[in-house]
Amino acid sequence: MPAMESFYNLSFSDLEGQLKKNGLKTTAASLLFNWHYKKKNISPCVNNVSKDTISYIADNYNFELPKIHTVHEAEDRTVKFLFELSDGRRVESVLIPFHNKYSICLSSQVGCAMKCSFCFTGTQGLKRNLDASEIIGQFLGANQWLRTNRPDEERILNIVFMGQGEPLHNFDAVKKACEIFIAQEGMSIGIQKITISTSGYIPGLQRWKNEIPGVNLALSLHAVDDEIRNELIPINRKYPLREVLDYIDDLPLSKKQFVTYEYLLIADLNDSEAHARELGELLKGKRAYINIIPFNPFPGSNYQRPSDEKADGFKRILGEYKIPTLIRKTKGDDVLAACGQLNTAD
Ligand code: SF4
Repeated sequence: MPAMESFYNLSFSDLEGQLKKNGLKTTAASLLFNWHYKKKNISPCVNNVSKDTISYIADNYNFELPKIHTVHEAEDRTVKFLFELSDGRRVESVLIPFHNKYSICLSSQVGCAMKCSFCFTGTQGLKRNLDASEIIGQFLGANQWLRTNRPDEERILNIVFMGQGEPLHNFDAVKKACEIFIAQEGMSIGIQKITISTSGYIPGLQRWKNEIPGVNLALSLHAVDDEIRNELIPINRKYPLREVLDYIDDLPLSKKQFVTYEYLLIADLNDSEAHARELGELLKGKRAYINIIPFNPFPGSNYQRPSDEKADGFKRILGEYKIPTLIRKTKGDDVLAACGQLNTAD
């Protein structure tokens, strides 16, 4: 018998379609989404739905979540999860606290094909794509953990696809997961609360423009010239920076939307005053935020972290160009949870 499909692979309209196809009332879709996503129950729903619907769901879908293999809690309350998937592969997700709420950083692939030179995940190569249920499962698994361990803080308000993988390289599953996150009948997370971070994978950007334009975009920029960017993000050779930036400039942003440009600051590589000025020139006048992320060395990495003074100076220069800039505190440093340093190996 083939394995049952995960319920968490169904968007709201998929579920309605399946119920209809099987001669069941489509109104049950709202009840099921409410039960599983609004109330976040992980056991099958037996309230207010017909017996036929209960048996159809029980016969066709499973509700298994990725297993929590390990949890690391950092002093600043960041929580890093290593989830084990049904085939034994592992991915990481990170809960990042702000006040009594959280952002969650999700993985979209096991490993990654982009091979960025500063990235722990990139050293592993792409093992496989996650499906939507494995993305949703990271969220629900982390939420369950919060419910048990920090019951007063069970609120995940923002979602960022910045964990393992290039999300736009696994577009279908990421899009389906976004549809489930934003469904009014379920979690009802505002589309503007979701951010997808990309290395500049243009085929995915093309689909983003047509299929999920309301989702926020973050570009891993990290360098202002192709020579350094080629070293850091090899896909830049195929999709050079100017092409990516031109493409992003043409994206239809809503009034409140900005593009976030992530800039990994690496000592003696891209952290000079001249680099800051080039970056300012490149982005001035655009609907841009800049996140400066001081590099967080990991065992075996070739790069070094710049001093705090250097990062502050870099930010000060960008201020002259009137671009809102943040230095991202690498929350979870002590559990190696900062971006691009996720590790599925034990
Ligand atoms: S930084 Fe992101 S895109 Fe680059 S290799 Fe790592 S996970 Fe992939």
